[in-house]
Amino acid sequence: GPVDIETEMLVLGAGPGGYSAAFRSADLGLKTVLVERYATLGGVCLNVGCIPSKALLHNAFVIDEVAHLAANGIKFGKPEVDIDALRGFKEKVIGKLTGGLAGMAKARKVEHVRGVGTFLDPYHLQVETTSGEGRAATGEKKVIRFKQAIIAVGSSVFKLPFIPNDPRIVDSTGALALKSVPQRMLIIGGGIIGLEMGTVYSTLGARLDVVELSDGLMQGADRDLVKVWQDWNKHRFDNIMLNTRTTAIEPKADGVWVTFDGEKAPKEPQRYDLVLHATGRVPNGRQIGAENAGVKVTERGFIEVDKQMRTNVPHIFAIGDLVGQPMLAHKAVHEAHVAAENAAGHKAWFDARVIPGVAYTDPEVAWVGLTEDQARKDGRAITKGVFPWAASGRAIANGRTEGFTKLIFDAESGQILGGAIVGPHAGDMIGEICLGIEMGADAVDIGKTIHPHPTMGESIGMAAEVAKGVCT
Ligand code: FAD
Repeated sequence: GPVDIETEMLVLGAGPGGYSAAFRSADLGLKTVLVERYATLGGVCLNVGCIPSKALLHNAFVIDEVAHLAANGIKFGKPEVDIDALRGFKEKVIGKLTGGLAGMAKARKVEHVRGVGTFLDPYHLQVETTSGEGRAATGEKKVIRFKQAIIAVGSSVFKLPFIPNDPRIVDSTGALALKSVPQRMLIIGGGIIGLEMGTVYSTLGARLDVVELSDGLMQGADRDLVKVWQDWNKHRFDNIMLNTRTTAIEPKADGVWVTFDGEKAPKEPQRYDLVLHATGRVPNGRQIGAENAGVKVTERGFIEVDKQMRTNVPHIFAIGDLVGQPMLAHKAVHEAHVAAENAAGHKAWFDARVIPGVAYTDPEVAWVGLTEDQARKDGRAITKGVFPWAASGRAIANGRTEGFTKLIFDAESGQILGGAIVGPHAGDMIGEICLGIEMGADAVDIGKTIHPHPTMGESIGMAAEVAKGVCT
């Protein structure tokens, strides 16, 4: 059939994976076309994920932090929240970043073709133009012929099958839209996304309940970290229902009524003004005609790749949320660079030892590599060094001593295997531990590295000293 656009590199999807892949491909000399169904680049992360959530969380953090100053003799009044202006600020943050991406694409001559892409065969993609809101609407179709492709179509919200359509029942995107602040809010799913959004709404005035199927919130992090977060945040919650299943959701005139099944859950249905469901995300692999290109997609919609990010079809790569857990932006970006470099004829492998995870709650919870709980479960011999922030001059000065920094070393080789931090700005600090793990550092390397005083970063050096038994 007729071909409208010819390109060396086709990138499908413009999230952190897709735009990074497109930019690196163009920088390495490949003529690159970037197909994205939305009008703006940036994908979930910039438009309805990482960035807007952090824009709101920053405001919540400052509101809460300022309230703590009352103990130091500095009192502010009750905050007056203009929710429309706050939403406007969030939109401005998104606009600045997505606008920046558009500029970066233009500077590299990366063409953004707006539309929903479907593979026709291993060398052709059909794009059905959209009006910009993500749905094919115009009926206009273009065919792109490509030499190589990188698929980066990401993931979508997983919706429990019994969740009805009602404006008072939202997913993370609906929660970020920040229409109004409810009195009683239920969060279904006690993972990072649910708890981050819960933090925002609770600071703005909502009372929270959370229901979680497993036996703890923030699964994946060590329980001692989560306990610190939970103790600090007790005031936000009326009820934390663990080991509990949500069995029915019924929207009525006076609210959304939710029924639970769990030992400690209320037996009677509960009434909420807003219900946020945040029970995970599913990859978009089954919506792109991958089979026409011969690309294998798993039952759940993931695309399997090798360490060069190649699918089973060697000239087609896949990256990001689409290729597996953890579904995080920084993983997508690194995979993108590997795929683009291989496509451009360089040799590159995705060979990260570790990928950090962060809950941007207050306090933040950050962890990377081997966790203590996992090491104990596996019966692995470790040495640990913990530095409580109650012993940090800076933490005391900041009035935030609830946190701690923990490092995990291999008992035999002494090399660092993991680390975790709970406390304000923990996410900004975890990168140093990642670097230590990538470089095979031991406790002496970290302990003898001079950190600036007085900072929370010092706690990493001190935790290493503790592990060496130098200070206790
Ligand atoms: P996506 O960002 O999902 O982008 C895929 C793009 O492909 C989308 O723009 C989509 O429109 C487009 N697309 C899909 N199918 C087609 C098609 N057929 N044709 C054309 N275009 C198509 N991660 C972090 O690391 N830190 C955080 O703080 C963080 N916070 C988050 C908060 C929330 C509320 C959510 C929901 C997620 C958060 N994440 C965070 C996860 C992060 O957003 C994802 O890991 C990241 O966006 C994945 O990037 P990606 O490039 O794989 O895909």
